[in-house]
Amino acid sequence: MAGNKANVKKEIEKLRRELEQHNRLYYIQARPEISDMEYDRLYRRLVELESAHPDLIEPDSPTQRVGGAPLSEFASVKHAEPMLSLDNTYSAEDITEWVARVQKGLPDEPVTFMAELKIDGVAVSLTYAKRKLFQGATRGDGVTGDDITENLKTLRSLPWELNTPAPVGAVTIRGEVFFPKAAFLALNEQKLAAEEKPFANPRNAAAGSLKLLDSRQTRQRPLAAFFYGLDAKNSEPLKTQKQMLEALDDWGLPVNPDRKFCRNVDEIMQFSQEWEDKRHGLPYEIDGLVIKVNDFDQQRRLGLTSKSPRWAIAFKYSAAQARTRLLNISVQVGRTGVLTPVANLEPVYLAGSTIARATLHNVEDMERKDIREGDTVIIEKAGEVIPYVVGSVPEARTGAEKKFEMPSQCTVCGSEVVKTEGEVALRCINSACPAQLKGRLLHYASRGGMDIEGLGDALVEQLVDKDMVKDYGDLYTLTAGQLIPMERMAEKSAENLLAALEQSKHRTLGRLIHALGIPQVGEHTGEVLASQFENLEALSKAPVEDLTQIHEVGPVVAQSLHDFFALPETKAVLKKIKRAGVNLQRLPEEVRSEGALTGKTFVFTGEMVNFTRGQAEARVKALGGRASGSVSAKTDYVVAGNDAGSKLDKARKLGVKVLEEDEFRKMIES
Ligand code: NAD
Repeated sequence: MAGNKANVKKEIEKLRRELEQHNRLYYIQARPEISDMEYDRLYRRLVELESAHPDLIEPDSPTQRVGGAPLSEFASVKHAEPMLSLDNTYSAEDITEWVARVQKGLPDEPVTFMAELKIDGVAVSLTYAKRKLFQGATRGDGVTGDDITENLKTLRSLPWELNTPAPVGAVTIRGEVFFPKAAFLALNEQKLAAEEKPFANPRNAAAGSLKLLDSRQTRQRPLAAFFYGLDAKNSEPLKTQKQMLEALDDWGLPVNPDRKFCRNVDEIMQFSQEWEDKRHGLPYEIDGLVIKVNDFDQQRRLGLTSKSPRWAIAFKYSAAQARTRLLNISVQVGRTGVLTPVANLEPVYLAGSTIARATLHNVEDMERKDIREGDTVIIEKAGEVIPYVVGSVPEARTGAEKKFEMPSQCTVCGSEVVKTEGEVALRCINSACPAQLKGRLLHYASRGGMDIEGLGDALVEQLVDKDMVKDYGDLYTLTAGQLIPMERMAEKSAENLLAALEQSKHRTLGRLIHALGIPQVGEHTGEVLASQFENLEALSKAPVEDLTQIHEVGPVVAQSLHDFFALPETKAVLKKIKRAGVNLQRLPEEVRSEGALTGKTFVFTGEMVNFTRGQAEARVKALGGRASGSVSAKTDYVVAGNDAGSKLDKARKLGVKVLEEDEFRKMIES
C-alpha cells in the first residue's frame, strides 16, 4: 500500500510539473504546445488523484490556483472580487450531472439557466468610476492582474463612459476580449511576410496584443469584446443573469446577442447542438458554452469553490478533427529562402471549409509525428482556423507509404540548400531564386508595405515567370501595353494597377523600410528607424554601432540592416526605385512628437500612489519620451514606486538614474 501511495505521489508531482509548464506557455508566453483537450485531460487526472488522496493536496497545486502570474512589465491591480476560472467538461452526461447537483443544492425550488457562448479570448475586468472608464486589468492569478488600461482604451467598441444615470459609484464589469478570425488570419500573414513568428490562434493573438507595452501598437489590432459579468453591489437591484446582460447592453457595453434562457437540461442541450456547427460561421471563435444558474440569489447560496463558482460550468466543444489521406508532400520556398514541407491532402471538409493543404512546419516536426507520404492522417484546425496535421494513423498503413526527405537542392531554382547553425529550417541560398523573388514582390506590395492593390499572387507569378520583373524596382517600369495581354488582366485592371503603383510612390519612409524585406525588420522597426533617420540614404550609411544605439534596435537587427545595404543587389534596386520617384524621405508625421522628454526613456517599477502605470507612461509619451518595460544601459530614468523589485536593483547596478514618484511628478509638471 505504501508503495502504491509513493507511486501516486510521484504521478501527482509529475502532473503538477507538466501542468505548470503548460500554464506558463499558455498564460505567460501565449505559446501553448498542447491542445486544450489534452491539457484538460491531464488536469482531470490530477483532480482525480487529489480527490482520492486529499492529504496530498498542496495549496500551490495547479488545481488550487487560477490562471498565470501577472507580468512584471505592468503595474499590478488587485481585484476587488476575485476573477475565477470555470469548471469545465466536454461531456453531455457531466452537464446533466451538474444540473442535478445544482438542483440538489436548491431543493424544491425551480431553477433556470442562462446559456452563453464561451468566447475564446482573454478575461478582463473594467472599472468605471462616476460612469467614466477608470481602469482595465487582466485576470492574472485571479487575485492580482496587470493594469492594461491604456491598451483596453484602444478597443473601438468599448465605451469610455457608461450610458446610464444609475450607477454613479464604482462599477466593475467582467468580460472577454477577443481577436476576430479574419483579422487574425490577416495579422498572421503580415507576420509571416515580416518573418515574425505567427500567433498559434486568435486567443493568443488577443493575449499578445493586450500585453504590448506600446498602446499605439495595440490600437492597430482590431480587438473586440463581449461583457457578461458585474460586481456584487451593482448586481443587487438586478435579480438575474438575464437582466444583468440586458442592463450591460443598455449601458452601451457590447453584449453577445447569441444567448438563451433555458428551463431545463433539454433546452441546454438543444442550444449546444445548435451552436456545435453554427460556431464555425461566427466571425470570432468560441470554445464552448457557459451555463449559468440564472437567479442571483440562488447563485449566492450555491457559492464558490477556491477556484470556480458552483453555479456555472463550461461545456466545451472538442476541437474539430478530420481524417484524410496525405497524397504527397511538396516543398514551398519562402521570401527569405526557407523551405517548408506542405502536405497535399485528399480534400476533406472540416469546420467550415474544405481543406486540401496543411503545413507540416519542418522536418523535425514531421519525424516526431512519423508522417509519411500516403499515410492516413488526422488534421485539426489550430484555434479552429489554420489547418495542420496532428499525426498519422499507423494502423491504417498498407506498406506503400514513403518516408519523406527534404531535398538537398532548392525545388524551385536548383541551388544549394543549407542549414544555418541553430536553425531548424533549410534555406535556398540563391537570392535570385524565382520563389524568393515572388515572395519579396508580394511582401513589397503587401498592405503593411507599399500597399499596391491588384498586385496579387497570380500576377506576380506571371511577371516573374515571364522574366518581366527581376526586383521590385522593375515594377515601376511596367506599361499598360505589357500588362493588358496578361492572364486575368484587362484594360481597366491594368489601369488600376498602374494607378496603385503611382500611389505607392508616396508612402512613408517607415513603410518603405518594412517593404524592402530586410531580414528581422518588421513594420514596427520600420517606424522606429524612420523616426531616427531623415532618409533612406542616411539609414543605409549608418554604421552598426550607431544603429545599436537606437532604442528597440538590437545587435542582430543592426547587423542585418548593415548586411542588407552592403549587398550590390540592394544598391541596384534602390537606384531603380529612386529613379522611379519613390519617396525615400521621412515625412513630417513620422517625426516622433517633440517635447520636454524627447529622447528620454523611462522604466516604471513598483506601485505609484498618484498614477497607474498606464497613466504615467501616457504622460511620458505625450511629452515626447518613451516608456519601456525593461532596464538597460539605454534607459535614462527608472521611476521606483512602492515595493520596487529587480528592475530597481538592475538600475542601480547599471548606474541608471532612479527617481521617486514625487520627483517624477515634479519633472512632468515642470
Ligand atoms: P476556461 O478558459 O476554461 O474558462 C473560464 C474563462 O472563460 C473565464 O475566465 C472567462 O474568461 C471565459 N469566458 C468566455 N465566455 C464567457 C462567458 N460567456 N461567461 C463566463 N466566462 C466566459 O478557464 P481558464 O481558467 O481561463 O483556463 C483554463 C483552461 O485553459 C483549461 O481548461 C484549458 O482548456 C486551457 N489551458 C490550456 C493550456 C494548454 O497548454 N493548451 C494551458 C493552460 C490552460
